[in-house]
Amino acid sequence: MTDYKLFEEYDRLPGVPPKLLSRVKKLCGSTYADLLFHIPHSVIDRRAFTTIENAEAGKLQTLKVVVTSVKNPANARSPFKVYVTDESAETMELLFFNVGNWIKKSFPEGKQMYLSGMLEEDFASKKMLHPEIYPASANVDEIAKLEPVYPLTKAINSKMLSKAIDFALTLVPEKAEFLPEEILNKYNFPSFKSALQELHHPTAPESLEINSVFRKRLAFDELYAWQSVLIESRNRTKIEKGFAHQVPRHSELDSESLESKLISSLPFALTGDQNKVIAEIKQDLQSEHPMLRLVQGDVGAGKTLVAFAAMMQALENGYQACMMAPTEILATQHYLNAQNILEPLGIKTGLLKGKMKVKEKRELLAALADGSIQIVFGTHALIQDTVKLKSASLVVIDEQHRFGVKQRLKLTSLNLENADRTPDVLVMTATPIPRTLCLTAYGDMDLSIIREKPPGRTPIKTTVMPDSKISDIANALNRVMDKGEQIYWVCPLVEESEKSDLMAATQRYEELVSLYSENDVALLHGKMKPKEKDQVMSEFKDGKYKILVSTTVIEVGVDVPNATTMVIEHAERFGLAQLHQLRGRVGRGSLQSNCLLVHTNKVSKIARDRLDIMRQSEDGFLIAEKDLELRGPGETLGTHQSGHVITKVADLQADKELINEARNLAIKSINENKGLSPRVVFLQKLFGRYEAAKLLQSG
Ligand code: ADP
Ligand code: MG
Repeated sequence: MTDYKLFEEYDRLPGVPPKLLSRVKKLCGSTYADLLFHIPHSVIDRRAFTTIENAEAGKLQTLKVVVTSVKNPANARSPFKVYVTDESAETMELLFFNVGNWIKKSFPEGKQMYLSGMLEEDFASKKMLHPEIYPASANVDEIAKLEPVYPLTKAINSKMLSKAIDFALTLVPEKAEFLPEEILNKYNFPSFKSALQELHHPTAPESLEINSVFRKRLAFDELYAWQSVLIESRNRTKIEKGFAHQVPRHSELDSESLESKLISSLPFALTGDQNKVIAEIKQDLQSEHPMLRLVQGDVGAGKTLVAFAAMMQALENGYQACMMAPTEILATQHYLNAQNILEPLGIKTGLLKGKMKVKEKRELLAALADGSIQIVFGTHALIQDTVKLKSASLVVIDEQHRFGVKQRLKLTSLNLENADRTPDVLVMTATPIPRTLCLTAYGDMDLSIIREKPPGRTPIKTTVMPDSKISDIANALNRVMDKGEQIYWVCPLVEESEKSDLMAATQRYEELVSLYSENDVALLHGKMKPKEKDQVMSEFKDGKYKILVSTTVIEVGVDVPNATTMVIEHAERFGLAQLHQLRGRVGRGSLQSNCLLVHTNKVSKIARDRLDIMRQSEDGFLIAEKDLELRGPGETLGTHQSGHVITKVADLQADKELINEARNLAIKSINENKGLSPRVVFLQKLFGRYEAAKLLQSG
């Protein structure tokens, strides 16, 4: 069947010289279907068809002309000239710079041709610079039209791509349709193929605009394809065999249960949102199918305790729990926290580190395998084969956006004795994500939100200032230090180069050392060994240093209540969500905290506005929404962050209102068909989502 050819990798393409094929593959993707969604970003309007007499300056126009004479360039820098006339009997010059002598042959006297270009006019003559030339035999409708302009790469032009894509279009069945009548009617959507046709051969420039129904229609298809992947994968998890914990309701907790012991040992009461989320988790844990739940809560919202409470249910049922963090610093912090809070309740905890003494490691592994350690903390090293757990029923993943989707899925492949059952998975993220984005990026999970913060926090005072103030700021740090408080100094994020990140940080470190003392300032950067980082971080935490200069490695989760001041250089280079994360490192205790966002003197208005949002709000969810509005979704989730979704046509901001509809349609279709219908699979393949679907399902 011709339609399946769509999903094949092409080995040649009409219009594309074979040696350029690999470039096209890199640019557009390697299957015919990929070509379909390489959408033009703009059009060249060649529709104005006129005569030399009527041609207007400064406008792109198409004409039919005849060559009267040519003139060779006077020197290497002057142009080759072609004189033409037409039925209006006026003349025009065509100028070609930097062309070889061969060009003369292309313009014999009396030659008729079409041309299209931008007209320039001075007192002497009408001119066109490097116009497009077409043979007189060409069909004028094929020339005087809107010409799509594609995203390009070196040596590839839009004409080539247009030809190649036209071929791919012939492989799309005329009747291909994936959306039900009521959706098509509701949004006034054209058919699938005509939408594609219009985007690649626009009949009006508006067709390529963000709100055009042609683009929206395909965006809907794409969102629908992706939501079907997520919903199906969610449904599959729901039928797997889980642990079906016995879990007392909150009101039924007897004073001897681990959970109630934990709660009553705390010097504070849980917040309403913490209790709400714990209840949601408990419900999942009781189910005979595994949990896959994402807990979103701003920095400092108290997610760790929620995780600990969940772990109590696993332990109470005689199982183990494990908690994974993206870095060893964080894993260690959780472990120390657990030692403080959980060991007094008689719970045995362990920490798996990258580098451990052989004997120490052997003992830990043995204790995990025989179950004498009940909770283990670590990085993704926990998923390695050598780590055998007796019977873990709960996996908590902290700061989840650092883990890729694949890792997330592999978590269930923990080496367990009771391998016939899938453990419950609780994912925690401190990155507030706008709801629509969340449905797209993490739509295969159930969602819990902790919005309320523990009481008694003093708001962080945020100030925005230009970098001409840097030395004033540096000189004023002793006022903070005199109070016995500590400072984070975050150095600029330099795109694409860890090396320059490091240079900036090192330089600032040296300046601060010369201003204060070597004993007061520490440097932390990504190039350090995990052990060194751990050491610096824990020494800072213990108050050995007053100032910690760092690249962005302190971004996630590290808790130093005594640190009250944060300086962020080149704040304009960070995403709002990231700034919010960074700022969340201060304001962790009861002391008044300050955050100084330092920007380059000349920043754009947008950049200023973005920083102002930081000044005005501490609500991570609001900041995330604004970030999305101002920068677009790719940047909100950050291209370096995994787990985010790259789309071909859909724009998660502009198509926000379609996401819910696409999700509901996916749910409906999967229910009615008891799974993915062939039509939906076809659509997933079209958008390159089928591999993801298979991957998610085999997880
Ligand atoms: P995060 O959500 O960023 O992981 P943590 O769990 O690390 O936040 O909690 C931040 C701090 O708030 C910790 O010191 C923790 O002990 C404290 N905390 C957590 N819950 C409460 C609460 N209900 N009341 C007061 N303090 C709390
Ligand atoms: Mg945390």
